[in-house]
Parts: sequence; C-alpha cells; structure tokens
Amino acid sequence: MNEVLEKILDLWEVDKSIHRLKGLIGDLRVEEERLKARIQAEDRAWEERKEKYKKLRLAANAKAREVDETDDRIRAYQKKLDEDIIPYKEMEHLREQVALLRERLEKLEEEALQLIEEADMDAKRLVQDEKEHQTRRAQIEQALRDLEGRRRQLEAEQEELIRKRQEALKKLPSHIMEHYERLHETVSDPVAVVEDGTCSGCHLRLSEIVLERVREGREVVICENCSRFLFSRWR
Ligand SMILES: [Zn+2]
Repeated sequence: MNEVLEKILDLWEVDKSIHRLKGLIGDLRVEEERLKARIQAEDRAWEERKEKYKKLRLAANAKAREVDETDDRIRAYQKKLDEDIIPYKEMEHLREQVALLRERLEKLEEEALQLIEEADMDAKRLVQDEKEHQTRRAQIEQALRDLEGRRRQLEAEQEELIRKRQEALKKLPSHIMEHYERLHETVSDPVAVVEDGTCSGCHLRLSEIVLERVREGREVVICENCSRFLFSRWR
C-alpha cells in the first residue's frame, strides 16, 4: 500500500478512537448529571420529611399551650368566684363558663396527649428515616465519584490520542493534511473503501480511471464525487 495512504489510515484510526471516546465521555457526563439530580431530589425529600415532623411538633405544642391557657382561665374564674363579692347574675354566668371550660379542657387534654404521642413516635421514625436518607445519599455519591473517576481516565486517554493525532498529522504532506482536515470537519469519515466499484462514503460509482489508480496503489486517490480518500481492502 502507498506509504502516505497508510499514514492517512493511521490518522483515521486515531480519529475513530477519539470519536468513540468523545461519545463515551458524553454518556458519562449525562449519567453524572442524572446522579446529581437524584442527590438533589433526595435532599429535597429529606427537607420535606423534616418539615412534616416540625409541623406535627408545632401542632402538638400549640395544643399543649391551649390546654394551659384554658386551665389558667378556669383558675382565674374560680378565684373570682371564691374570693370576690360579685352580683348573683355574674356569678351564675362565671359558674357556667367554668363548667364549659372544664368540659373543653378535658377534650383539649386528650387531643394534646394524642398529638404529643404522634410527634414522639414521628421523632423516632425521623431518626430511622435520616439514617436511610444518608445511606441512599452516600450510595449515589459513591456512584457519582466512580463515574467521575472513569470519565477523568477517559479524558486522559483522549488527551493522549489528541497528542498522537498531532504527530500523525505532521507525518503527512501538507496538501494531504489540509485536505484531510477539511474532510474531517465536514464528514464523519474522511476515508472511504472501494467496494464493487463504488465509494463507501458517497455510494456513487467510481470511474474506471479512478478505480485503476486505486488498484495500482502507487498514489493517494480521492473520490471524484465526495473527495474522500479511497482505499481498497485487499491491499
Ligand atoms: Zn465518494
């Protein structure tokens, strides 16, 4: 095979590897973003969970305060009834109020106890939930670190290949190098194989003259239609 053509094929091999690595690195980046989003979702869910507990505890505290306030009111009314000299009508009214408040107090105390119990139970569940949240988060973070490590490794390989590419380019005559680079910018495969008298790049039939030159293999031949470098497998 023509020596320059061999160098073009070497360069093309390097470019294919770079292209493959670029795809892999891109896939890893997508996966990394997906994991980062999962960590964020995990943190959001945990914040919501804590908020749920906080609301429950606040409701229990509010109910307990209501119990205290009601109790204070009963004591104040009772004190007035016991110690003050008040008109009969007002006394009757206060007694009624005390009775109503006592009834209410009983109900409030029940509700407060239930809420405090719920909040205490939820506090225990919260401890367990936090452990589970931390475990899940740590697992995702580990997976993310693994992916980042793998990506950095591939990026190092890619850098090495880019260095190889520069060397492979330098080995080509400048007009060939320029032609290759132009093709490389516009098509994914600057090199095409000749199959059944056809260029594998553009799938058009090649003239007899071009086919003969490819067969002879003495020079670098390009497709007359798409300008790709041509080579035949049997050489
Ligand atoms: Zn072609």
